[in-house]
Amino acid sequence: MTTISAETRVDEAVDRLLSDFPPDRTPDVEFWGEQFDAGLAWVHFPEGDGGLGLAPSFQRRINSRLREAGASQDNISRNVIGYGMGAPTVATHGTEEQRQRWLRPLFTAEEIWCQGFSEPGAGSDVAGLATRAVRDGDEWVVNGQKVWTTLAHTSRWVMLVARTDPDVPKHRGITYFIVDMDQPGVEVRPLRQITGEAEFNEIYFTDARVPDAYRLGDVGDGWRVALTTLMNERVAIGLTALPRGGGAIAEAIEVWHERQLDDDYLRDELMKLWVEAEVARLTGSRANELLQKGTPGPEGSTSKLHWAELNKKITNFTVDLMGAEGMLLPGGYPFVRPEAAGLGRVSRQRGFLRARANSIEGGTSEIMKNILGERVLGLPGEPRVDKDLPWREIPR
Ligand SMILES: Cc1cc2nc3c(=O)[nH]c(=O)nc-3n(C[C@H](O)[C@H](O)[C@H](O)COP(=O)(O)OP(=O)(O)OC[C@H]3O[C@@H](n4cnc5c(N)ncnc54)[C@H](O)[C@@H]3O)c2cc1C
Repeated sequence: MTTISAETRVDEAVDRLLSDFPPDRTPDVEFWGEQFDAGLAWVHFPEGDGGLGLAPSFQRRINSRLREAGASQDNISRNVIGYGMGAPTVATHGTEEQRQRWLRPLFTAEEIWCQGFSEPGAGSDVAGLATRAVRDGDEWVVNGQKVWTTLAHTSRWVMLVARTDPDVPKHRGITYFIVDMDQPGVEVRPLRQITGEAEFNEIYFTDARVPDAYRLGDVGDGWRVALTTLMNERVAIGLTALPRGGGAIAEAIEVWHERQLDDDYLRDELMKLWVEAEVARLTGSRANELLQKGTPGPEGSTSKLHWAELNKKITNFTVDLMGAEGMLLPGGYPFVRPEAAGLGRVSRQRGFLRARANSIEGGTSEIMKNILGERVLGLPGEPRVDKDLPWREIPR
């Protein structure tokens, strides 16, 4: 019996997909569906769930081959939260029925997903959340408010963490649901950002209903499920594969050339940033290679921290290079509700403004440092005085 290498298996599956469904003659949604069925959506997922059970690092090879062949990857940018966070959570904790129901339309972007974790009183300390879900027969009734919910305005499904038992310590009384946003008890209101756009929203739940069959994991075990989403979020943000010299640093270099700048100090600064960007890229790519199946570890948090701070530094430097022009926002400040998150970089100035959110979204830099200190360096943990108190007794 001959065994073929994982690489050959991936390449053959890509060849077959491209020859049976040429991207230039296949409608996008059909192509993405076929990509899912071929196991090339998330190659590390099991067969039947959009994968081939191989190492996740092969996905980059697949995506770049499909991109070169002209296949659109708009499904990923339009459903960035579903693709990077919802899918791994469903794949890890979902039942067979749930995986069958949700993964394919999520990948084809026929159903967009958002993440309903943060609340006005629970961001960094998301386990303190107050949105309640109360059981009513085969359903749960949800009341409460979420905030900063990226792409809620385009979403069909929200990953909701809700309090189902207020009488136990905060981490233990949470349950994880996938809630259909297409119902009268769910109201989405836009929140405008510094760029003028409203990528994110508030969501109000008023007697919204969710079947018990749409619960991920056990009742009271929602924190463990939520950690899968959060760890994948940091990986999705911090370990995005960029080409050498790509991303924000490419813009800085472009400005340097366009303006024919020739200043020793500025050249030095630009080179330092380029080197730091390359270090971040190589570290990210090494961490990606090491990433195996299951829930990623704290490596995602360290990459997220580095990427967020560096992106802010580079975009600062880029507008500095532009001089007075850097202070103007071309196209003004129109209120738009974009179809994709974080990609509205129509100008360098807008890129600078959008980058301010990098050290907040997906967990703040301070929280990433806490994780790095405690989980990577083994430093003493922060005092957590409310850890063992019933949630109901924690002052708010
Ligand atoms: C662009 C963008 C998109 C987002 N999208 C989503 C989304 O789709 N879904 C979602 O659920 N949330 C989303 N968020 C929310 C994001 O996760 C929270 O903003 C973030 O976790 C911080 O919470 P907070 O805003 O409540 O700030 P707080 O937690 O109130 O923090 C305020 C400040 O205190 C610091 N701080 C808090 N606790 C500690 C501590 N223990 N040690 C040291 N410093 C601390 C923080 O670092 C911060 O500087 C998004 C945010 C942004 C900016």
